[in-house]
Amino acid sequence: RTAPTAESHAGNGVSAAMTATKPLVELSHVEKHFGSLHVLKDINLKVNTGEVLVVVGPSGSGKSTMCRTINRLESIDSGVIRIDGEPLPQEGRDLANLRAEVGMVFQSFNLFANKTILENMTLAPIKVRHMERKDAEDLAMDLLARVGVESQASKMPSQLSGGQQQRVAIARALAMKPKIMLFDEPTSALDPEMVNEVLDVMTQLAQEGMTMICVTHEMGFARRAANRIVFMADGRILEEDTPDGFFDHPKTKRAQDFLSKIL
Ligand code: ADP
Ligand code: MG
Repeated sequence: RTAPTAESHAGNGVSAAMTATKPLVELSHVEKHFGSLHVLKDINLKVNTGEVLVVVGPSGSGKSTMCRTINRLESIDSGVIRIDGEPLPQEGRDLANLRAEVGMVFQSFNLFANKTILENMTLAPIKVRHMERKDAEDLAMDLLARVGVESQASKMPSQLSGGQQQRVAIARALAMKPKIMLFDEPTSALDPEMVNEVLDVMTQLAQEGMTMICVTHEMGFARRAANRIVFMADGRILEEDTPDGFFDHPKTKRAQDFLSKIL
């Protein structure tokens, strides 16, 4: 990972961990069941400001559920999740404010199909952040330019390619000025030729210092952009290491098997 500042982005995750006073996101002894299915088992995780965490692991291991607990799309059974030191609120106005701090980009593009790209971009900033329409539109156009789709602003989502829609989804999340961005397999639903245009935007964000948690099967991106890799299987974090450490020397049999199948 090439980095804007040596202190916060040494590329090995260690200096970021040492310079930050408190983690931006902290999961502590988090447990989650769906009925009798135990999907998150004693999850402990800290993400410091400016860190890029990549979460990998077999399908069904709880990666999406873990992400969804961080902006409280899923409740937890026990444990604590803190954002910027504050325990996650369970409901109400505080929850809406929290969600505004945590940007999320999903596998499916999730744009509002009956609104233009510009409307998609300005809706939440006007409603939740109480921005003036003109300011929200200026910000939207800046962000659309950053992800390379400003010429599409007046179009409907269905008129854009999958890669363009996903770049709009990223820009839309950024319009809320989130403290952290969560990406849950953002390129998995894309045609192969569009994967890189989305990964490029994510890599750029990482280099600009955005705090990110990315669930992805794109191991090239993981090696390039991550400070730390978290490997999950069966609801547990089995390994947490630097990219080189994890990819070159996976410690558990589960991780070795996983890597031998995908690399
Ligand atoms: P991953 O993202 O690693 O593939 P998930 O977090 O999506 O894993 O799922 C973990 C487990 O929880 C899987 O067995 C999945 O079928 C189950 N699961 C996920 N969401 C729900 C739900 N809303 N209700 C019941 N089971 C669920
Ligand atoms: Mg998933």
